[in-house]
Amino acid sequence: MEAVKSYRIPVEAPEDLIEEYCEVKRRTLDSILSHVKISKKAHLEFSKDDRRKLRDELLKDWKYSKHYIDSVINSVIGLVKGWVMLYNRKKAECKPEITKRSVYIKNTLFSLRDGILKISIESNKRYLEVDLRKYEWIPKDFDRLGGLILTEKELIVTLKKNVEPKTDRFASFDVNLTNVTALIDGEVRRYDLKPLYHIHRAYELKRRRIQKLSKFKPKTSKRLLKKYSSREKNRAKDFLHKLTTYIARGLHHVGSGAVLEDLRNIKSRILNGSKESNRKLSKWDTRTFQFMLKYKLKWLNLPVKYVNPTNSSKTCPLCSGSMASYEGRLMKCERCNLNLDRDVVAVLNLQMRGAGFPQRALNEIIKRERLRTSIKDYVT
Ligand SMILES: [Zn+2]
Repeated sequence: MEAVKSYRIPVEAPEDLIEEYCEVKRRTLDSILSHVKISKKAHLEFSKDDRRKLRDELLKDWKYSKHYIDSVINSVIGLVKGWVMLYNRKKAECKPEITKRSVYIKNTLFSLRDGILKISIESNKRYLEVDLRKYEWIPKDFDRLGGLILTEKELIVTLKKNVEPKTDRFASFDVNLTNVTALIDGEVRRYDLKPLYHIHRAYELKRRRIQKLSKFKPKTSKRLLKKYSSREKNRAKDFLHKLTTYIARGLHHVGSGAVLEDLRNIKSRILNGSKESNRKLSKWDTRTFQFMLKYKLKWLNLPVKYVNPTNSSKTCPLCSGSMASYEGRLMKCERCNLNLDRDVVAVLNLQMRGAGFPQRALNEIIKRERLRTSIKDYVT
């Protein structure tokens, strides 16, 4: 199995290459689009011969390394095929365009020796060198590099590593609007999500102000909304990166994998009672959290399991009876009267659905958690 991680490194990119690359990509797109035949359905008729001709044509006034042309052709073929598929499903809005100013650098165009990445710009003549050792946040324990992406400001490197995730210990995670509750090594832990909530709240207020503007200046407001939405997501991602790195490190320490909720079944619990936009965001947060935790754990050779979360906070972990809201965050079992914080109920159930644990351990945890809740109730 392969684990993958990507990092952004600030570089002074060769602007002329980026410029020429995008230009050639546009020409390639025009050329390949002219090979799309539309009768009832669209399909691409682009033979090996066509490809050779196009390649020769493009290479005529190309001074940079030849492999760039091959990657241009490959990526444009991919782009056009994707568009043809959308078109046939009547989902294509307009023809594809080259908008991103980035260069894909496949592995025939660079070498890595002693931590120094040497990217060929012009064959045997001009290189871009990047010393990966200078960036201590980039892991050293990778097996190889995947293709690189060069933009005007940065180089995106993808590290790959062979892994065989394996463990017999699992922690379970339950993501709510205000916290992530986890059961790690028999201990309940909570990670505060309020900072994340505040990020979304701040941008929601901005969005509302802009929506008022939309009547008078629809274009400006649309542009602003897009800008703020990407800023909001970047800030949220930043927060979630820190959190998942911290959690992954903790799990690495105890050699534990993770049991996560299978979000295909997410509807009821987390999202109930919140507004539409909050609902979407909360779903996005949860997915992003899971995605980040998963690939970070995979890198550490730790597996992730997904379980069905249906009724995970409404089922009694002791007797499987059904639990109902009791007081605040507390849930009470209608059969055996157990009362317990709903997030704790959820992680216990997720843990049992994913990995199970002996009854004695379960009793211990419940005893401890009940003590904790009752003390808290007493204090407040
Ligand atoms: Zn019960």
